[in-house]
Amino acid sequence: MTERFPFVACAYARALAARSAAFRRQLEPDARELEDDEEFGPDPFDEEGEASGCFGLKQRFPDRVLVMTSNACFMNCRHCTRKGLLRHAEVVRSDEELAACTAYVQEHPLVRDVLLSGGDPLMLPDDEVMRFVQAFADLPQVDVVRLCTRAPCVNPARVTRDLAVRLAASGKVWANTQFNHADEVTPEAAEACANLVNAGIPVSCQTVLLAGVNDSAAALLDLFRTLQRIRVRPYYVFQCDPVAGISHFRVPLERAVEIARACADRIGGLGLPRFVADIPGSTRKMPIELL
Ligand SMILES: *Cc1c(COP(=O)(O)O)cnc(C)c1O
Repeated sequence: MTERFPFVACAYARALAARSAAFRRQLEPDARELEDDEEFGPDPFDEEGEASGCFGLKQRFPDRVLVMTSNACFMNCRHCTRKGLLRHAEVVRSDEELAACTAYVQEHPLVRDVLLSGGDPLMLPDDEVMRFVQAFADLPQVDVVRLCTRAPCVNPARVTRDLAVRLAASGKVWANTQFNHADEVTPEAAEACANLVNAGIPVSCQTVLLAGVNDSAAALLDLFRTLQRIRVRPYYVFQCDPVAGISHFRVPLERAVEIARACADRIGGLGLPRFVADIPGSTRKMPIELL
């Protein structure tokens, strides 16, 4: 199985997995990963087919684009939406490729939000990260450069105060991270988030609803409250995407709606993320109660 879906985990992630069953389930290979090939294609969002015509850049929505900056992560999440694709992903590396991405944005004046994704952009050295940030932050039409990274959760020492200050300098960087369980909000993770927030970078959390990890209102409310204590805004809770190898994590839609309602009854708006599903072809992340 690890030939098809490789096992990757940095030392910090391994140590956290040893202490937390909820986190261990996101990291340890499971025989069920090989069972659902018939049900779901490997690439429902056509991430391999290059719709934008621009290498390493994906556009599904009019005002925002996603740029692939890396095809590696500190840990390969077993529930990853790019599972199986990531190794072959088109990643922007050369100055020419990056210039083509900034030219694409300039040719699409509605774009105001650029997601630096992958893989994890923080797998790159600081200067490389800043090269991407600067290239897009320098464009007057761009209001937001989103750093999409799980480093605060899975390798918090990577998020140094020095890096946070450099990222914040343009005034345009927001960070989006992923915590799935309160166990993951360790003192180290809290410090990583504090480095970002104290530097002036808004930090949001995209959680994935995962069977056996966080599929109860109690577990999620504990997570949302814990995130608020470290000034991280719960942004989305995602239904698992329909990709091969993760269906054992999927929470049935009716159950997810029930959990979402129970959360909404028990926490204020600032602590309550939107529960959404990423539906291929839809014009936005869809609130699950509308499905
Ligand atoms: C999810 C996604 C975004 C960001 O959507 P938000 O709802 O603004 O968080 C942007 N581009 C692509 C290709 C996406 O899949």
